[in-house]
Amino acid sequence: MSKVFLTALGCRLNEAELQRWAQEYQAIGYSLTPMPDDAAVMVVNTCAVTGEAARKSRQIIRKHHRKNPSAKMVVTGCYASLEEEQANELLGVDLVVPNTEKDSLVEKTQAVLELPTMPAMASEPGAPALFARNKERAFIKVQDGCRYRCTFCIVTVARGEERSRTEESIIDEVNQHVREGVQEIVIAGVHVGGYGSDIDSDLFSLVRRILKETEIPRIRFASVEPWDLPEDFFTLFENPRVMPHMHLPLQSGTDSVLRRMARRCKTEEFERLVTQAREKIPGFNVTTDIIVGFPGETDEEFERSLAYIEQIGFGHIHIFSYSPREGTKAARLANHVDKSVKKERSLRLHQLASQLKTSALQDQVGQKVSVLWEGSPKMLDNGKVRYVGHTPNYHRVCVELSGKYQLENQVTETTLVSVEDEMLIGSIDESSIATSGAVIFRQ
Ligand code: SF4
Repeated sequence: MSKVFLTALGCRLNEAELQRWAQEYQAIGYSLTPMPDDAAVMVVNTCAVTGEAARKSRQIIRKHHRKNPSAKMVVTGCYASLEEEQANELLGVDLVVPNTEKDSLVEKTQAVLELPTMPAMASEPGAPALFARNKERAFIKVQDGCRYRCTFCIVTVARGEERSRTEESIIDEVNQHVREGVQEIVIAGVHVGGYGSDIDSDLFSLVRRILKETEIPRIRFASVEPWDLPEDFFTLFENPRVMPHMHLPLQSGTDSVLRRMARRCKTEEFERLVTQAREKIPGFNVTTDIIVGFPGETDEEFERSLAYIEQIGFGHIHIFSYSPREGTKAARLANHVDKSVKKERSLRLHQLASQLKTSALQDQVGQKVSVLWEGSPKMLDNGKVRYVGHTPNYHRVCVELSGKYQLENQVTETTLVSVEDEMLIGSIDESSIATSGAVIFRQ
């Protein structure tokens, strides 16, 4: 059986695409290998969100080719789309598939590289996807591309116009994951809020159908731009299967900077959206992205941004120091901020983010919530094991318990007892695990 090696850099969307190709390759009789060494085909899903990401993509391509020069090398993703010619010239590359043709990547590799199809040994429908990076959660790509042109963003250039998958194909993929025992899906895209704009649907209708036509226990959203959300969107969270957390990239807490970024959502609208969510959904957690040191950002603008961020409060903040990306409007703006100033601002924002996170975690203490435990446990010196998982509103939590229980991919009622090192400490009544059907190790 021929083996395929799949790897990705960058965002959750690249991850979701890998999971889908894994299923498609298996359906035509390939098996998956975690090692490039014994692969007949290697697929690298590249990233170009920063110059550094593009450099890393080239490095990975060269490294895997050196490891296995006889394998067919397929390169796709944002770096390959932006620098198609350069990617084609890289040593060992047999095929470049730009983002706009990603949905037919497997057929294309078959046709162009004349790879064998082994129908006789094709894996059975529903055969477990060996690939899932973790068993608990699957990323579902629902749409690609974006109609907006934020001045710092290269993704919109690399991924093209918006195009949505059909609701049916998404429902089928979710049901496939349910059959494989996946507990949680993450709805991902470039502009998730724009889902359905090209197929007479929207995110509200899609999620309602997933709730109705699948048994998936937990539904999350990956990063969602804080605009274009459909009417009544937040009523979806009345269903306990929709997890009360959203990652809403704000990027700056000052309107003058947001204008230079060409962001659609200004501070007032953002505050209204967050307030609406928090009023409707108890314990709703908002996390965000912030760019510090955007061209022209003055001390005064930065201070105002800090004050706004503190006022809104976030469960977690991803902080990026602005780095010019060739091919974006922002890279051509004047008054780029000095590196040392960016560093100092990033430090101050990290300090604020840590305070906000700790206070958000403190608010969870005393609650009893259903936690999905992820990955294998860490063995402790005291003979106990430690598991890590996430609360419904996406706060990390760990629990220590006797080594006889296996919690991986299990959801258990967990009491949140304290906060340590920006993580919740949970406790589980072990007798409840026995009755909950959690797998028990035999000593
Ligand atoms: S909305 Fe998001 S994907 Fe679209 S251009 Fe802006 S940052 Fe890029």
